[in-house]
Amino acid sequence: MKNFSYVKESRAFFAVRRLQAGVCCLVFFFICGCVPMPEEALQDLPPAAQANEPPYKGLEPGYKTYETAHFLIKAYTTEIAVAQSVICEQDYSRIMNDLGLYSFAPVKPYNVVVYRDSQEYIKQTGQPRWSGGMAYGNAILIYDSEGAAAVLAHEMTHLIFNEFMGLANNADFKWVNEGLAVYEENRASAVSKAAYSRRFSSTVATNPIPFSQMINLAPQGEQNAVVEKWYAQVGSVVAFMIKEGGTLGFSILIIRLKAGDTVNAAIGTAFPGLWKNLRDIEKAWLLEISR
Ligand SMILES: [Zn+2]
Repeated sequence: MKNFSYVKESRAFFAVRRLQAGVCCLVFFFICGCVPMPEEALQDLPPAAQANEPPYKGLEPGYKTYETAHFLIKAYTTEIAVAQSVICEQDYSRIMNDLGLYSFAPVKPYNVVVYRDSQEYIKQTGQPRWSGGMAYGNAILIYDSEGAAAVLAHEMTHLIFNEFMGLANNADFKWVNEGLAVYEENRASAVSKAAYSRRFSSTVATNPIPFSQMINLAPQGEQNAVVEKWYAQVGSVVAFMIKEGGTLGFSILIIRLKAGDTVNAAIGTAFPGLWKNLRDIEKAWLLEISR
């Protein structure tokens, strides 16, 4: 069995969850010992015990399975499975185009488990009530809801990024990973986009986090607002890099990061004539958001 790096996210889609439940929580994603945790406990944890069993229970007997080019979807009705499969494949195409990873394909289809509702999802996954979805191994766990598309886009970005980069490299690039996930979530959901936009205006625009801090994991003890601000900022920075530098540049960036280049070296190679290093991007992004 694959040595599961504990890729697990309970964040995803706080915008809709807030609207639905009025819960002011953000779920967070960690790689290499990825565990969900409340913001106040934001920290790297040691890798989870090497799980032989995934930390969740599947659907009740009688569920339906539907397979597409890149996904194996389980849900209680074929209609739901097919509907989610359409969203999954649309998200997949968008993400791969945005990343420019035309020569990359997942080793095997991603599993998508669609629980009946929030109650069953919480019961079977052990996630907190405000969680909108999670990823584990090569699986995405969600429940049938309006917000599923945003959760799928966010979590799928992580699965693709993680698989492409290789688990050993992931921990250094959380800001890229989460920034991409927020970017894709916003592309998939107008509700998420509006929520992130509001948060950006009220927190980041007035007081951006210096990039030297942004690229490092927020330390333990950070407050919720700080983490939410960080998500809004990394989403904005990645969107800016893709908009200004293009998907080709962005694909070269992550290819060079995967190859072991430093962030500055990778930026110089990926965006020749535009940015030489992270500082250049920071200056250009600050100018952009001040307009
Ligand atoms: Zn995430």
